[in-house]
Amino acid sequence: MRVQFLGGASRVGSLGMLLDHDHDLLLFDYGYLPSKPPGYPMKAPPVRNAYLSHAHIDHSGMVPWLCGRHDTNVFATLPTIATSDLLFEDSIKVLDLEGYPQPFDEDDLETTRRNTREMRWGETRKEGDLEITSHSAGHIPGATMYETVNREIILFTGDIHTLSTELVWGAKPVKCDTLVLESTYAGRRHPDRLKLDHDFLKKVEEILDRGGKVIIPAFAVGRTQEMLLILRRKRFEIWLDGMGKRVNRIYLDYPEALRSAMKLRKAVKDAKRVRSERGRERALKGEIIISTSGMLDGGPVLRYIDKIKDDPKSGILLTGYQVEGTNGRRLKESGVLKISGASVKVECEVSFFDFSAHADHDDLLKFIDGCDPERVILCHGDSRELLASDIEGREVLMPKEGEWVVL
Ligand SMILES: [Zn+2]
Ligand SMILES: [Zn+2]
Repeated sequence: MRVQFLGGASRVGSLGMLLDHDHDLLLFDYGYLPSKPPGYPMKAPPVRNAYLSHAHIDHSGMVPWLCGRHDTNVFATLPTIATSDLLFEDSIKVLDLEGYPQPFDEDDLETTRRNTREMRWGETRKEGDLEITSHSAGHIPGATMYETVNREIILFTGDIHTLSTELVWGAKPVKCDTLVLESTYAGRRHPDRLKLDHDFLKKVEEILDRGGKVIIPAFAVGRTQEMLLILRRKRFEIWLDGMGKRVNRIYLDYPEALRSAMKLRKAVKDAKRVRSERGRERALKGEIIISTSGMLDGGPVLRYIDKIKDDPKSGILLTGYQVEGTNGRRLKESGVLKISGASVKVECEVSFFDFSAHADHDDLLKFIDGCDPERVILCHGDSRELLASDIEGREVLMPKEGEWVVL
């Protein structure tokens, strides 16, 4: 058996891992990095079956290309299937707006819909002499780790979060021989979660108390719902705009993927949804607006920011990792934002809260010990070596993109 990363080994984004067993190829995830220009993985060879860990575009974004080109079957949980379909549609729109070539079209999306199959957590599928079992990965609703078993056990984590959040339960370790582990947060530690929630709510209150508005750019898939759950603790007037509204409905259809469907249902019900231009005006008269995109590269959030950016009483609260080259990263680092092609200085407050959905350095080390593998293959990280140097008594591999690792 051997594995090869088509992308996403030495960096976050465009993850794809080929598994070659008895000359049969399987693919785990196939995404692209939504940067400018987009970062694509190496071209995948024909594969009959692919396993998708979750909907985020850096894991799923090239699946329609794969289905359109190679007629591949794709296995995933139902929340992943439904939310990734939304993101594929959005990907076509965004690339079109930005003027980049399209890796796939609507016909490929149709093929993807036809070729996608549900695989539930705990379910096992046979691939020749290989048995593949799906496990919850924490991270976002529906996110999955894949365990492959024959002579040896390999665990492919996708993105994992081992701590429970308001939205999902944390991932549990799975005993394995080889652990293919994401390492987004290698070398970094998250602030204490309860303190983070507390500081975040305090900041929201502070801005509202001084008469400002709060704009929360949030990814539609996962972060929007978590924000609703955290903000629900106080009685704020919350408005919701963008794709997050549709993702709410999808998640509520799959309560088994949530920590508490009841809480999310209440939080969604309490938030006001923007449905029209008039709604946008009314939202700006309210207190808090949660909207896409999370990294400020388009989406309705820019319209709201445009209205409050010169008001020093108001604030933009960034709630997730801002990829290099994105508008959000620019705002975080230099206080400047691109709106409708023009660079504008933002005068309102800008704060960052590290609401990560990933295991941090220490969580990853604990997870490794729990899985107790002989060999750890680190991927999906810009600073893998920082984690590698803290792993003791196990073989640690950090393959480059394109390199085959024989197991
Ligand atoms: Zn993810
Ligand atoms: Zn990822």
